[in-house]
Amino acid sequence: MPEAQGAKSRSVLISGASIAGPALAYWLDRYGFDVTVVERAPTVRSGGYPIDVRGTAIDVVDRMGLLPRVQAAHIASRELRFVDGEGRVIGSIPPYELTSNQTGRDVELPRGALTMLLHDLTSERPIRYRFNDSIDTLEDDGSGVEIQFKSGDCHRYDVVIGADGLHSRTRRLVFGPEEQFNHHLGRCFNIFSMPNDMGLSHGGIIYGEAGRTAGAFAVRNSKDVFGFLVYASDDPPFGAHPDVEEQCKRTEAVFADGGWEVPRLLEAMRHAEDLYFDTVSQIRMPVWSSGRVALVGDAAYAPSFLSGQGTSLALVGAYVLAGELASQDNPSDAFAAYERMTKPFVEANQALAIEGNGYLLLPRTPQEVEARNQILASLAAGERDGMGNDHAREVHSILRLPDYTR
Ligand SMILES: Cc1cc2nc3c(=O)[nH]c(=O)nc-3n(C[C@H](O)[C@H](O)[C@H](O)COP(=O)(O)OP(=O)(O)OC[C@H]3O[C@@H](n4cnc5c(N)ncnc54)[C@H](O)[C@@H]3O)c2cc1C
Repeated sequence: MPEAQGAKSRSVLISGASIAGPALAYWLDRYGFDVTVVERAPTVRSGGYPIDVRGTAIDVVDRMGLLPRVQAAHIASRELRFVDGEGRVIGSIPPYELTSNQTGRDVELPRGALTMLLHDLTSERPIRYRFNDSIDTLEDDGSGVEIQFKSGDCHRYDVVIGADGLHSRTRRLVFGPEEQFNHHLGRCFNIFSMPNDMGLSHGGIIYGEAGRTAGAFAVRNSKDVFGFLVYASDDPPFGAHPDVEEQCKRTEAVFADGGWEVPRLLEAMRHAEDLYFDTVSQIRMPVWSSGRVALVGDAAYAPSFLSGQGTSLALVGAYVLAGELASQDNPSDAFAAYERMTKPFVEANQALAIEGNGYLLLPRTPQEVEARNQILASLAAGERDGMGNDHAREVHSILRLPDYTR
């Protein structure tokens, strides 16, 4: 592959080794950059719920040579079943109707499977990973960025990229507090592993009432399932990095008189070792860069899991950002081009979370419960009205990837 103009041996520090970070590292390394990735966790975080790779992002993994391996990890969910408080089935939805995945092309795979594939791909290359470390202080003096790591080491980089997620520290250091950019979408969730003793296979089961939804989801025939407890909340109840005891108490209060398997889910949440709590939020920023520092993935534009597009936006953003850095001598020109090209795609996909059918999974009002039940009834009668899939599928693919290798 011809080296793109301007890469020379510029050094880049990427903070975060989940999806956006390693994808960006891969492309920058291919273009001849000297790449370091710093990750707070001791190793690549391999666990996690199923995520989707769709539309334009499929082209990105294809160009990385990963498509066959990503497709092999497809979990092929078959059914999302909805039950009432007594466990009686109200109806069911083929999951890909709900998520608008393009059957035969888009892929649903465990998040950890994708992070491992990306890490394996990048660890074959001369990319340095610094696990168990993170940026402590950052100083951009116009010609480079001085980094002091928490471990005590200091290094200077030409460019620094924050790929450190919804609660990005890089964003906080450069742009200020998260509250300015975090748009709460009215729900909080807990997700945790529990034994698959509901006989689930290739899909999930959901019990949703106005303002609270409980459920469980099995990846293929897994012996553990992902339990989840989601509730409506107009304001984010506490800070971005909440207190586990407080979040459990709050969830227990919301679900105190819940039917179906709610007591069992509450019990599993209490004892889970991998309990993951967050608010359902989007990150919306007027600009994604400042000087020699830019953001990519959830750090810059988390779309929330209501859109199911977080992973795809991270992969596409990483591809464009690397290509622009390789094509331009000046990082600020590269950042401006990356933003110009990617922002309309990001905003259209973020809008899916607001205008989409999130109420099917997480109804907040009796009216939304009623609308969900009508959809379930029409699906049972063989109708598809109201799913709105074609628009979402179009939006997943509206960005055409530039070719930076010519
Ligand atoms: C419950 C749930 C369900 C979801 N479902 C879907 C779905 O169905 N489909 C979909 O596409 N997406 C889904 N997502 C979203 C998806 O997981 C993210 O949007 C996607 O992983 C974005 O990747 P990222 O690399 O930008 O950020 P993240 O995956 O958040 O990674 C950030 C990385 O940075 C590291 N880090 C954090 N702080 C620091 C620091 N200070 N220093 C160094 N490292 C740091 C973290 O450890 C992590 O490795 C879901 C998210 C949640 C929470």
